[in-house]
Amino acid sequence: MTVTAEGALPERVYDVTVVGAGVVGCAVARELARRPGLRLAVVEAQDDVGQGTSKANTAILHTGFDATPDSLEARLVREGSRRLAAYAAESGIPVERVGALLVAWDEDQLAALPRLAEKSERNDCPDIRLLGADELYAREPHLGPGALGALHVPGESIICPWTTTLAYATQAVRAGVDLHLNTRVHGVSRSADGHRLTTSRGTLHTRHLVNAAGLHADTLDRALGHDDFTVTPRRGQLIVHDKLARSLVRHILLPVPTALGKGVLIAPTVHGNVLLGPTAEDLHDKRATGSTAEGIALLREKGGRILPALLDEEVTAVYAGLRAATEHEDYRITAHPEQAYVTVGGIRSTGLTASMAIAAHVAALLADTGLDLGPTREPDPVSMPNLGEAFPRPCRRLELIAADPEYGTLVCHCERVSRGEIRDALASTIPPRTLDGLRRRTRARAGRCQGFYCGAAVRQLFEEART
Ligand SMILES: Cc1cc2nc3c(=O)[nH]c(=O)nc-3n(C[C@H](O)[C@H](O)[C@H](O)COP(=O)(O)OP(=O)(O)OC[C@H]3O[C@@H](n4cnc5c(N)ncnc54)[C@H](O)[C@@H]3O)c2cc1C
Repeated sequence: MTVTAEGALPERVYDVTVVGAGVVGCAVARELARRPGLRLAVVEAQDDVGQGTSKANTAILHTGFDATPDSLEARLVREGSRRLAAYAAESGIPVERVGALLVAWDEDQLAALPRLAEKSERNDCPDIRLLGADELYAREPHLGPGALGALHVPGESIICPWTTTLAYATQAVRAGVDLHLNTRVHGVSRSADGHRLTTSRGTLHTRHLVNAAGLHADTLDRALGHDDFTVTPRRGQLIVHDKLARSLVRHILLPVPTALGKGVLIAPTVHGNVLLGPTAEDLHDKRATGSTAEGIALLREKGGRILPALLDEEVTAVYAGLRAATEHEDYRITAHPEQAYVTVGGIRSTGLTASMAIAAHVAALLADTGLDLGPTREPDPVSMPNLGEAFPRPCRRLELIAADPEYGTLVCHCERVSRGEIRDALASTIPPRTLDGLRRRTRARAGRCQGFYCGAAVRQLFEEART
């Protein structure tokens, strides 16, 4: 098992190198790790997996009911949703199939619902149903006044995005993939073996290259001589409400979509909070992940109409993520056989859901670029620590505590995170290198006090493990 974050890169020539350890790059690495004959690497500019867009989304496992039928995105979201639901069940990634309600607030939106239902059937998502206002309010009693009806999409689910990326990466690394963190690719040139990557940690040689660089996929694509798409970051700001708000909402409450995207939604999270967001702001700065007063005000205005009581609830956190939007309406996943190169660009607002299907698609494209995938051997399954409220957390599992009392010693009381879970995360295959990384693995410091009470104790455990 190799995870590196400093020093020179190995001199070996890899068969395939994936640039970017977001949910997509890690899914690709995991998929390729099913081929034990391949020497594989993932290079990531940041100090952890899932630090880009993959850490800041709405965490919905979409069915793809509203995708553009016959697009690549529609196919991969549909397929990815099924694959990830099955993978989550076997790997311990928390998923709750809460279903979505697409709420119509005026006559135009009500008239649009049957068209959306038709689209949904074309997207092979047939079990949806139109609801009248009475049934809608029976299902969601806290909904604001004036809703006229809804489309019920029972398959829409919520999922833990951090555990998903980490599960893929963990399984890939345990199966022999080299994960090189703190390794930013600055340039790429042809070499006798294929590609020579110039990185912040020296040179890396690889026969085949997969570009899963998210917001920066266009820059790397241009370095390889292509001008297929330009990423325009589309910021989505979100508000996380306290767990006490969770009883206000049972489904994912979606607006009727517009040309700009899916719009502002209210969704429960598997961690027991309630999300309100995201905004959709086209920007130029790929680092603009800050929240703004205007963005938060807009969300509160829209959220107040959908679920008025939510505005009285405490806010735990705000965050923003950048979608890798392009001038195209579909994913930009292209094989360049003459360069032994596959680019995975424009994975906008559905990449978490589609990740496993994107990975399978990329593996097939790599075969088209001349890569001999060799025989398949399923990697050992992974069993991820549960961060979901709907499933038993360690501090509630008496048999676990009896065997190891550290699981009964709480460190973070808001999120009920035990010493045992923090210890396990710090000793895991891909250990966190920062307190934020530890939070994504355990939820320590993610609760309503945001580390005010537990911060010092968590930091002490973190620092002890690193010395
Ligand atoms: C607000 C919002 C809400 C969303 N909601 C959902 C949702 O509910 N469901 C869903 O399925 N999807 C959702 N998405 C979309 C989903 O989050 C993305 O499609 C997905 O995370 C993209 O993953 P990625 O791996 O392509 O990109 P990233 O996660 O950004 O990963 C790319 C990685 O490449 C690295 N990198 C870049 N350049 C270099 C370089 N030169 N060298 C080395 N490394 C490099 C970056 O550091 C980064 O870690 C949402 C997105 C946003 C912003």
